[in-house]
Amino acid sequence: MAEQANFDDRDGFIWLDGKMVPWRDANVHVLTHALHYASSVFEGQRAYGGKIFKLSEHSSRLRKSAELLGFDLPWSVEEINAACIEVLEASGMQDAYMRPLAWRGSEKMGVSPTGTKPHLAIAAWAWGKYFDPALAARGIRLSIAPWRRPAPYTAPVHSKAAGLYMIATLSKQHAEDHGFNDALMFDWRGQVAEATGANAFFIRDGVIHTPTPDCFLNGITRQTVMDLARRRGIEVVERAIWPEELESFEQFFLTGSAAEVTFVGSAGPWNFEVGDLSRQLAKDYDDLVHERPANT
Ligand code: PMP
Repeated sequence: MAEQANFDDRDGFIWLDGKMVPWRDANVHVLTHALHYASSVFEGQRAYGGKIFKLSEHSSRLRKSAELLGFDLPWSVEEINAACIEVLEASGMQDAYMRPLAWRGSEKMGVSPTGTKPHLAIAAWAWGKYFDPALAARGIRLSIAPWRRPAPYTAPVHSKAAGLYMIATLSKQHAEDHGFNDALMFDWRGQVAEATGANAFFIRDGVIHTPTPDCFLNGITRQTVMDLARRRGIEVVERAIWPEELESFEQFFLTGSAAEVTFVGSAGPWNFEVGDLSRQLAKDYDDLVHERPANT
């Protein structure tokens, strides 16, 4: 496959503070509050067949994420939705990954955020599968992350805030450096939490178990897949899961807007099979995002 150009050197347009600007001109100054103090939040969403899946849920989470970091976006959910649609249309793509990003600007420098202004950019690009499909068909390999999801009293854990990706990036790098595809993160208590950019689901005896999202994102894909499973009459249990239990699970998959439903073959010393129920839910999710009727 041809090497893609750097992200700052592509054709097309990016929506920036209300205007469509040429891709290469969508820049910020180095003295931008967000770059120094992690005052930025973002979304990751996909368009399928020209329609952005769960668009309003993503736009409203973006506003909520900013609010949790202490700033309000002057754009409503409807305005953010309209801007995302405009970006997708301008891109000419039917299937795309989209990245709305909001941040505190360069109006002021220093820890104090008072006086900074909120900014918003929205970009779309072609992003196939999050993990190599041949690998994902067998189940990806996860390491156990050296970092833990923080306690809710130490960080705004329900914000999709750039700052919270510091430990995700470190964990992903550690995984890749050691030959793994991603990492399974535990939380500050030692309970199983999630991967670096996707939620975790386990299957045992036909029942689905997933950690309670009390210190990490309750993903939009997570909620969608739980709903799909329940519609099939499958029991879904949301609860604390300790690593000791990982040995007893037969199947393991991840969910996320980018990762969609991704099968996991192993996590640290624990192995899993790619089973029928995981496959069924991956297909149900694929049918739903493509607006195909679910087969029963
Ligand atoms: N957790 C983390 C850390 C993530 O980055 C993501 C991807 N946004 C998720 C979970 C899944 O969230 P969603 O299904 O809303 O994309």
